[in-house]
Amino acid sequence: MEDDLAPRAVLRPKQSHDSTPKKKNDKKAHAPTLRMIPLGGLREVGKNMTVFEYGNDLIIIDCGIAFPDDNMPGVDTIIPDFTYLRENKEKIHGLVITHGHEDHIGAIPWFLQEFDVPVYATPLTMKLIELKLDDFRPKMKSNKLQVVRAGESLTIGPFTFDFIHVNHSIADAVSIAIHTPVGIIFYTGDFKIDYTPTSGVPPADLGKIAALGNEGVLALISESTNVEEPGTSLSELEVGKTFEDIFHRVTGRVIVATFSSNVFRLQQVISTAERFGRKVLILGRSIQNVFEAANKLDYLTYQPNTIIQVNELDQYPPEKIVILATGSQGEPMSALTRLAFSEHKLTEIIPGDTVILSSSMIPGNEAAIYNVINELFMRGANVIYKTLSAVHASGHACQDELKLILTLTRPTYFIPAHGEYRMLYQHAELASLMGIPDDHIAILQNGDILEFSEDGMEFAGYTEAAGVLIDGSGMGDVDELVLSDRLRLANDGVISVMLVIDRLSNRLYGAPIIKASGVIYQSDMKKMISTCQDTVEDMAEQLFKKKKPLDKTMTPDSVSKEVQKVLFDRTRRRPLVMTSVTVI
Ligand SMILES: [Zn+2]
Ligand SMILES: [Zn+2]
Repeated sequence: MEDDLAPRAVLRPKQSHDSTPKKKNDKKAHAPTLRMIPLGGLREVGKNMTVFEYGNDLIIIDCGIAFPDDNMPGVDTIIPDFTYLRENKEKIHGLVITHGHEDHIGAIPWFLQEFDVPVYATPLTMKLIELKLDDFRPKMKSNKLQVVRAGESLTIGPFTFDFIHVNHSIADAVSIAIHTPVGIIFYTGDFKIDYTPTSGVPPADLGKIAALGNEGVLALISESTNVEEPGTSLSELEVGKTFEDIFHRVTGRVIVATFSSNVFRLQQVISTAERFGRKVLILGRSIQNVFEAANKLDYLTYQPNTIIQVNELDQYPPEKIVILATGSQGEPMSALTRLAFSEHKLTEIIPGDTVILSSSMIPGNEAAIYNVINELFMRGANVIYKTLSAVHASGHACQDELKLILTLTRPTYFIPAHGEYRMLYQHAELASLMGIPDDHIAILQNGDILEFSEDGMEFAGYTEAAGVLIDGSGMGDVDELVLSDRLRLANDGVISVMLVIDRLSNRLYGAPIIKASGVIYQSDMKKMISTCQDTVEDMAEQLFKKKKPLDKTMTPDSVSKEVQKVLFDRTRRRPLVMTSVTVI
């Protein structure tokens, strides 16, 4: 514990009623302290990962990814920085997971490549982790995956974990209570409290949370995603009612796009379809994966003949069909986007279709989503999205639910988590309003090292936590680069660019010739080819204007790089680009 280290994080200002002197030289101060180190998830929504360390024992909660923003072309994924874990490798007992969303499990393949430790997760979460490891290149497997269930406890080293059922937009989400030698840490994970979730699912286990509060909670670490929303989150029951209303009104096909991991929503759609005598087609790879995983666990109930395959579509009139599709965020490769742009090989939008976007718009995706909505309207579909109707319920607690958790746990210390700075700040305000002394609230940032001991809570420095950018599947060394080239070949095809430079006029001789192979979609190919042509011609024009000799500046390498960059910016594809230059 270094007192001279200025805390980077904002501890809220001390108030006069609390100033217990620190007992620095007391022998109790020599007992190990409990360290909490967020490696991700603070002042951002994404890549959640938190370390808890006591003496020589260390465990980690969650291991997620964040998605890059638009000004990081070429970056596919951001994972947490594992530096602190590398430095303490021999202490790591395992990774404990709250639920199966990408911002909580996405970085597990990279983690397991370096740390061969047990992973503990609930049944659906574990199925999604297994799918993720299988999808990773190189394919991965771990024989240390251990399924735990809500209601169970698990002891690892000096820590005992209680897994507590909560509601969220994915099945099998849990809050985690960690019993440590210093006290109980209550880690909410992502949660909401739904008193009327889909059938077969109980409301969050408030009884257990209250019991922990009575036992005494040292610190509450609570998610902040919806702290700006007053009241409570919408119940899944309300979404069911909205579906019911829509199905009553609609005569054509119904197409519902949602987050593929939202098993409850899949169930709602399937149940509503059954009540209206409609068949359900599941369209899109990720939604099919989740559907199968949930099926294996018996999490879905439906009549076997409700689900149809794509080749059976023609056997039913439009009013008998529901399509459950991926693409609620306007993702370029998703089923809904391909339907909207008539790029789907198997079916297309027909006038009279009703499309329901049953999800929130993740900030940053609005433009892509509205693009898809526009296209759908243009093709004669009616589109129902959140601003029009209660077709989506958030999976995150609003203010009243957050207050309830604070009331039940009555923590000594409070740390808002899972949110951008303003959300953490608002959540701190909320806790303050509810009587938690200001100097018992810490707004941390990634990498801060916070220590709990019998003396209280204090900062003990910080570690690297800026996040690691991942391009393709590689970590950056040569072998991985080759691998990522191969992946690119498999996914996005090859573009070859041939150009001729007339040295005398310092101009291109004729138009560049572009050939594409292995590009999956025809409409993509046309767009890619014209994009390439424009890029090469623009490049030549710019260099000509700057009086730069083309034969020196338009090298195969520089042309390939430029083309690749523009292609990625405009089409989100990253084919391998090979350029040949002839000078005459
Ligand atoms: Zn979540
Ligand atoms: Zn989350």
